[in-house]
Amino acid sequence: MKTNLLNYDLAGLTAHFAQMGEKPFRARQVMRWMHQGAAGDFDEMTDLAKSLRAKLNESAQVGVPALMAAQESRDGTRKWLLDVGTGNGVETVFIPETDRGTLCISSQVGCALECTFCSTGRQGFNRNLSTAEIIGQLWWANKALGATPKDERVISNVVMMGMGEPLANYDNVVTALSIMLDDHGYALSRRRVTVSTSGMVPQMDRLKEDMPVALAVSLHAPNDAIRNEIVPLNKKYPLKELMAACQRYLVKAPRDFVTFEYVMLDGVNDKPEHARELLELVKDVPCKFNLIPFNPFPNSGYNRSSDENIRVFRDILYQAGLVVTVRKTRGDDIDAACGQLAGQVQDKTRRQQKWLQLQVVKG
Ligand code: SAH
Ligand code: SF4
Repeated sequence: MKTNLLNYDLAGLTAHFAQMGEKPFRARQVMRWMHQGAAGDFDEMTDLAKSLRAKLNESAQVGVPALMAAQESRDGTRKWLLDVGTGNGVETVFIPETDRGTLCISSQVGCALECTFCSTGRQGFNRNLSTAEIIGQLWWANKALGATPKDERVISNVVMMGMGEPLANYDNVVTALSIMLDDHGYALSRRRVTVSTSGMVPQMDRLKEDMPVALAVSLHAPNDAIRNEIVPLNKKYPLKELMAACQRYLVKAPRDFVTFEYVMLDGVNDKPEHARELLELVKDVPCKFNLIPFNPFPNSGYNRSSDENIRVFRDILYQAGLVVTVRKTRGDDIDAACGQLAGQVQDKTRRQQKWLQLQVVKG
């Protein structure tokens, strides 16, 4: 088996090269070729000694997942489906805006956390992505968008808001983050790399020590009763603990606020009294709100809140002094919006069956 060098951050690659009897600067060179030059072959790395290239060809590879499909939306949003083996595929989305380009990447094949309004959650869970499969998404996007010198980068921001719960795949995600931030990797600013979590409290505490990047928390409800229903993880880490974890995170975070994501579900969490309850909940946590109009998928059982209800909700938060944005839906003609990423998941949890039964019972 050849060693996949995409699984290593710079420290790991340097250690691997040391074992091969190679100097640290060689690791930095290879790192730059792989990530900044989107090289997939050691023979492309022209400033490496021929002997080293031969040695690497023998023992190692730049193992990127194969591309299964690519799509482009009318609004310029692009989506790639990558093959992660045994019939599974994960999705990556690029969202161009005037002042930045954001890549939304996946961290798992499916998700085990069962949020009721999420298409990924409905599909069940197969496995964690390796570091190479996580970073391979940046590799492909970078290549497809035309790898350019550092100052003309097309991808300025990365959000871990695709399929999966990043903090449930902690080690591989942290190594991938290290590659994203490394000057010899993707050289992204830690303020522009965001981990989105449904609220895994112990891992939030670890992340702030290991790799403090910008944090988004999927709040979605103003109280435990509603959140227990739609984000089952809340039963393990209820809101009081989650708010305290956000405060602790902010001590080390590269930004001085947490972004709360809040999916707007008609009749479930979108009433004025919910907005007022939220204000009380977050009063001690410096934060911004990102309201996400629910993106429907087949048999979801939910509807998107009306524009009017979203406006009223937003205004209550806004008038209390909070910064609130309503997320624009991008790429909906290619099913690239939040929570619609379905990929191809061979479910190991029989979740799909469970949901179908539930639908029949609810009938
Ligand atoms: N597992 C992580 C990150 C992936 S989901 C998390 O839950 O935070 C990225 C965001 O999209 C989350 O806030 C998630 O709750 C939201 N989302 C999921 N399904 C959605 C849907 N159908 N419509 C709108 N947003 C959705
Ligand atoms: Fe998993 Fe996030 Fe979807 Fe919840 S919202 S099921 S945590 S991907």
